[in-house]
Amino acid sequence: MTIPRDTKRVIALQEELHSHLPSDPALRVKALESLLVEKGLLSSATVDRWIEVFRDEVGPKNGARIVARAWTNPIFKQRLMINAIEAIAGMGFPRLEANNLVVVENTPRRHNIVVCTLCSCYPWAVLGIPPTWYKSFEYRARVVRDPRGVLKEFGLELDDDVEVRVWDSTAETRYMVLPERPPRTEGFSEEELAAIVSRDAMVGVAKVITPERRS
Ligand code: FE
Repeated sequence: MTIPRDTKRVIALQEELHSHLPSDPALRVKALESLLVEKGLLSSATVDRWIEVFRDEVGPKNGARIVARAWTNPIFKQRLMINAIEAIAGMGFPRLEANNLVVVENTPRRHNIVVCTLCSCYPWAVLGIPPTWYKSFEYRARVVRDPRGVLKEFGLELDDDVEVRVWDSTAETRYMVLPERPPRTEGFSEEELAAIVSRDAMVGVAKVITPERRS
């Protein structure tokens, strides 16, 4: 079905409008929060602390540490691929999610990319708060139909012989990409490696790039 141009414009305008208005769930959460605070079941300070934890402490650096360890420790990597939750249990991350985490590995022949086509399921505990584009209708719809095209827009062009796999997250299962270790990083420590792993690489819309020069 072809959508007439005007309809497309209307959809785009509606999306634009929606992005500036609190969504229904956001309003409901706000109402629930006010009620819980009013009844003395929750304090505003607790809510602020949770937001702070996700924004400042969780962040993608947890995921980067996991990737760096997998690159440097084959036994850890093996455990990570079999049962990610168990493998990372000892790394000191807050246990924020009850759901499953699956790590998918990029190789020279296969590239993985993560999406949530339904809403915005994301591995918060290891990657922090999802970027806005991850939650956009545009990304969610297009990455399934044309992953290569979307990757190209992110500046990542894959060879034709590289298989692309799209992983659709759910409330039960979240995915994280284990990117390929870039060349010329043999002498890097785990910490140095963690510093070059980007959030986008762990979602699968970028690769990890060898830094130009080591400090
Ligand atoms: Fe979702």
